[in-house]
Amino acid sequence: MSEPSTGAGGAGEAGLVGDPYAWLPASIVSSVAQTPGARSLTFAVPGLRPARAGQHVDLRLTADDGYTAVRSYSLSDVRASAVPAVPAVPAVPAVPAVPAVPAVPAVPAVPAVPAVPAVPAVPAVPAASDGVGGAEGAGGAGPVPQIEVTVERLDDGEVSPYLVDAAEPGDPIEVRGPIGGWFVWPPTEFEPDSAVHAVLPEPPGATPLRDVPVQLIAGGSGLAPLMAMVRVRGRDAPPMRLLASVRDPGARWYVGELDEAVRASSARAVGVSGAEVSGAEVSGVGVPAAAVSAAEVPAVGVSAVGVSAVGVSAAGGRTGGLTVDWVYSRVAPDGHGRPAGRLTRDELESLVLPAAEHPLVYVCGANSFVEAVAGWLIELGHAPTRVRTERFGGV
Ligand SMILES: Cc1cc2nc3c(=O)[nH]c(=O)nc-3n(C[C@H](O)[C@H](O)[C@H](O)COP(=O)(O)OP(=O)(O)OC[C@H]3O[C@@H](n4cnc5c(N)ncnc54)[C@H](O)[C@@H]3O)c2cc1C
Repeated sequence: MSEPSTGAGGAGEAGLVGDPYAWLPASIVSSVAQTPGARSLTFAVPGLRPARAGQHVDLRLTADDGYTAVRSYSLSDVRASAVPAVPAVPAVPAVPAVPAVPAVPAVPAVPAVPAVPAVPAVPAVPAASDGVGGAEGAGGAGPVPQIEVTVERLDDGEVSPYLVDAAEPGDPIEVRGPIGGWFVWPPTEFEPDSAVHAVLPEPPGATPLRDVPVQLIAGGSGLAPLMAMVRVRGRDAPPMRLLASVRDPGARWYVGELDEAVRASSARAVGVSGAEVSGAEVSGVGVPAAAVSAAEVPAVGVSAVGVSAVGVSAAGGRTGGLTVDWVYSRVAPDGHGRPAGRLTRDELESLVLPAAEHPLVYVCGANSFVEAVAGWLIELGHAPTRVRTERFGGV
């Protein structure tokens, strides 16, 4: 999937319309299995406001007998949620009245009626897979915003088994949102007219939030909103590092796309620095990033212990650098340097951007994962205002 070209993007601002808390009829347009237990679903939602990476929506399903179930799902892709405004069709100039025919004897010729100018065609909307616009609405009603969610099946759950195993393109569903203003990247300013509403003041002289490096930390399905952030990141975005904890290698989502994003960001950084590198590595094991000083970290490189340093150093500037680290809680792949097991505080310290770089940190997952990680981050010196969390429930 192509990357957008700007750093502070996300979905554009095609104009905010509608009540953010109204239920909007939507339909599934496509789905992709991420793993046997998880699926990404793309919805077309006429009238949806442009969404930001990190926001979520509520989905409402209604059974034939009227029973409804509502669940929240983070947006894993917001790029097609902003559609270009359809230009207003210019009014057709009035045709001059034909002069009244005077009485006999002489009947003057009726002047020719000027041709009515052609109504300009509404510009074509790029395909949603280009990441820049929604699908064309039925009946030529203009482009329709699209959003993606990624759902993990909970076997004893009510809604997630339907979304993962049974939902099909064309199925109706209702969507409310997008919701949330704190857990968004790029960080926003206060927007009184929108559902985006929270930003805490930063100290005077602090590096603007949009320019600081970004650390993403996911537990299981908590990767969904963080993937939206990876996807909106542009070529001139600040360095971004992702740490994802999953049960086993088969539980990883978006693997090919993340591999490709890391490769692309490395190639760009090579172009910037002139350095040579044989290929970026998506690391499976941590290297004590904190133990490597910013001065020692090359803009691009694979360290002796096998972790891509791209995007680790604040000194690396805005190159859209991306590093991805996977850790495994139950089964690690062969050759992985770290045995399977729950993330510990010491490992976390070695796998995330150090507090000294003042990164913006986004943590998402089940309650217990988020509680533990956020607590450790604060103990490690990260400012509470720079640690943003989203909890999916569960234990
Ligand atoms: C803001 C927000 C964003 C979310 N985004 C996503 C997302 O992107 N992808 C996704 O798959 N889920 C996400 N969730 C969780 C989702 O809303 C549902 O809770 C989940 O799909 C389970 O719904 P269910 O109807 O299948 O299970 P339910 O019938 O509601 O519950 C079944 C059982 O599972 C437990 N349970 C509920 N939620 C979880 C959980 N997250 N982890 C472990 N156990 C749980 C319940 O306690 C219960 O015992 C999000 C939740 C919130 C609040």
